[in-house]
Amino acid sequence: MRTFPIFVNVDRKPPLVVGGGELAAIKARLLLKRAPSVDIAADAIVPEISALVAEGRVIVVSPLPGVDQVRGRPLVISATGDDEEDARVSAIARALGVPVNVPDRPALCSFSMPAIVDRGEVTIAIGTSGAAPVLAQRLRAWLERELHPRLDSLARLAGDFRDAVAEKLPAGRVRRKFWEGVFAGGVADAVLAGEEGEARRLIGEAIEAAAEGRSATGRVLLVGAGPGDPELLTLKAVRALKAADVILYDRLVGPGVLDHARREVELIPVGKAKGDHSVPQGKIQELMIERARAGQTVLRLKGGDPLVFGRAGEEIAALRQAGIEVEIVPGITAGLAAAASLQLPLTHRDISHSVTFVSGHEASGEEPSFAHLDLAALARGENTLLVYMGVSTAGLIAGRLLDAGWKPETPVVAVENASRDTERRVATTIAELAADPSRLGLTSPAVLIFGAVAGLPAAGIVEDVLSLPEVRRAYA
Ligand code: SAH
Repeated sequence: MRTFPIFVNVDRKPPLVVGGGELAAIKARLLLKRAPSVDIAADAIVPEISALVAEGRVIVVSPLPGVDQVRGRPLVISATGDDEEDARVSAIARALGVPVNVPDRPALCSFSMPAIVDRGEVTIAIGTSGAAPVLAQRLRAWLERELHPRLDSLARLAGDFRDAVAEKLPAGRVRRKFWEGVFAGGVADAVLAGEEGEARRLIGEAIEAAAEGRSATGRVLLVGAGPGDPELLTLKAVRALKAADVILYDRLVGPGVLDHARREVELIPVGKAKGDHSVPQGKIQELMIERARAGQTVLRLKGGDPLVFGRAGEEIAALRQAGIEVEIVPGITAGLAAAASLQLPLTHRDISHSVTFVSGHEASGEEPSFAHLDLAALARGENTLLVYMGVSTAGLIAGRLLDAGWKPETPVVAVENASRDTERRVATTIAELAADPSRLGLTSPAVLIFGAVAGLPAAGIVEDVLSLPEVRRAYA
């Protein structure tokens, strides 16, 4: 069956459903999602239909409809459960050119019912020309998840501003570009976040700006790309990737992550590795401000979470000072991804009551002193330390912890490339690590987990470099 999709107007005359049973009730309910009322031709009706009659949404007309009852209907569904009757109704409708559907009887249908994703003004109808209804249902389920429930508000907001835009902006390229900006930018984000007032303010501003021929100021999104596995991106991060005109990304961003960006996006690596600031921080900030001022949606994509050891504080301050709107999309920080992969809790009712995120190197690039951390206080309680950027200083850190009173046999587990195909894990103790950090053979990026939780049974393969006999004894 070859079919052509259309949307049928159901305002003028009610659709007709023939039959008064469960199936007819289901079809009536579906039609009532759009039609103000539905006529049902039946002599006996199930309670659900009676309820619709009581609500004034369904009118029951006489059974065995003839030409006069069918003529002029936007569509007819015959669901009597009686083959002969359905065939009769179908023949009348087809003779009159009225679209007709008989559930599960393709031979009697002149149209098929699509799988529908319903978002108010936005309707998506999925058809497979009758070939694979189950596939259509699967697609529907997928779209239900993908499409934001507030899409409807976005369509309504656009509807409200349609006339104002038509009045101020010339038809054609300018207007189309304006609307693309609305749906891909801050206005859409605000509506989808439930901030309608803000969205109205932004769209008003954008109309003024476009009418004066300047581009409205863009904005900057600081987005967490997670630890590497693209599956660990948030839905918001994926949407931000699709909305960006330009992406400034860190070296730590996993390769599959950028696949979510638009094809036309401009990609700028600002890759920061320790001791290799390929683009200086000040320059990154200037670049973000410059691009936002030119009206672009700028995405600053950072590994893990943008607010954890990501220099976000400086960037936020600079952007605010420049009067540029900033939005932050959190990501899964490396330490949490490492813990998830090992299936180790970071807090535990019996053995750990706090988690401290520690940087293994200092902003100055000097050896870390940890002077600002009360490691002794942390040694007295039951705590977990999560160390970032600690590959080259791991031995030093372990030494400081011992000095502060941490027990030599305290377990440590390091995770390299957490969540990536190249993930590697190594277990040791503070004493071992202090004695010979090179034994771990760690390469960056890696996080180290210090504390009793690191000694719980972990999932997957963990290399063990526990070798000092005295440590082994203390452990056993
Ligand atoms: N904002 C990031 C941290 C940036 S600092 C976050 O929240 O994860 C850089 C450090 O993060 C690295 O030195 C390393 O300690 C850690 N890191 C980032 N990605 C990692 C990964 N996939 N596996 C292990 N550690 C990682």
